[in-house]
Amino acid sequence: MLVVMQHGASADEVQRVVDTIEELGYEARPMPGKQRTAVGLVGNDGRVDASRLAALPGVKEIIHVTQPYKQVSREWKEEPTVVELPGGLRIGGDDVVVMAGPCSVESEEQILEAARAVRASGAAMLRGGAFKPEETGLLVVTEAIDPEGVDLVAQYADVIQIGARNMQNFSLLKRAGRAGKPVLLKRGIAATINELLLSAEYLLAEGNHDVILCERGIRGFDNSTRNVFDLAAIPVVHGLSHLPIIADPSHATGRRDKVIPMARAAVAAGADGVIVEVHPQPDRALSDGAQSLYPEQFAELMREIRVITDAIGRSVAEPLPAVSA
Ligand code: PEP
Ligand code: MN
Repeated sequence: MLVVMQHGASADEVQRVVDTIEELGYEARPMPGKQRTAVGLVGNDGRVDASRLAALPGVKEIIHVTQPYKQVSREWKEEPTVVELPGGLRIGGDDVVVMAGPCSVESEEQILEAARAVRASGAAMLRGGAFKPEETGLLVVTEAIDPEGVDLVAQYADVIQIGARNMQNFSLLKRAGRAGKPVLLKRGIAATINELLLSAEYLLAEGNHDVILCERGIRGFDNSTRNVFDLAAIPVVHGLSHLPIIADPSHATGRRDKVIPMARAAVAAGADGVIVEVHPQPDRALSDGAQSLYPEQFAELMREIRVITDAIGRSVAEPLPAVSA
């Protein structure tokens, strides 16, 4: 439930709402906004009797959140969430962020070669990186596969990835929600959009609001592609939630020649970023070689993405400057 304050409500009036929510036995989350302050009420299982709150001075209206997820919903927060990364890189704003790199880190040489190649084409983030490639100025997104691994990943990576198979691993979600780093949450292979948003709610409920969702294809009955890329999930999620959503056309299709058209489609559909597998030698990759782009293909994809972002009034996020040569 949301208690929306009148424009110009005083700090005392907001505090009184907070105190009343706590007296009722719930938790209060004040959210100052551009237009008005709202105070969220969490910790309730069912509908809350709002009569005491509605009568308090400075209260404009009470909104009962109708979705099963709360803090993730647009009803809770209307403005889009922009996840701020080190160096000023932003996910969920005007710029489309491209993350690229191999499926797995195979050797120092391989990850650095991949990092240099994707940086040269204009990617802003490296996927798969298990340690900071400062030489290239790329930020790093790496998967944490169990709760015990979260802190280690948080120590070295800029974004903690939660894989599709772990989308409903609630102990992992809770741990990641307390890790103090942004989280990239991938949609489970058989998860509905509703379930994806419910999983994201665990992260926000633990206090982590820097959550990026990822559509990476779901299981279907047709095995022409590895998964069925649910392109419509992008505008659907944007309608239901304020969180940014990116697309993973590599795992969605499983086939190198299908990655580029689906990446283009994702950007055209409004994705806030794409995460793409690129390998210096895909035929030698230890995992997911068949869906990994050659560096030249990735360079071409970047050129095409720029044309699309121009057409829809967005731009591609520029990589940060390298720290050392
Ligand atoms: C990955 O990104 O390398 C990965 C394993 O993806 P997913 O969890 O979507 O299968
Ligand atoms: Mn992979």
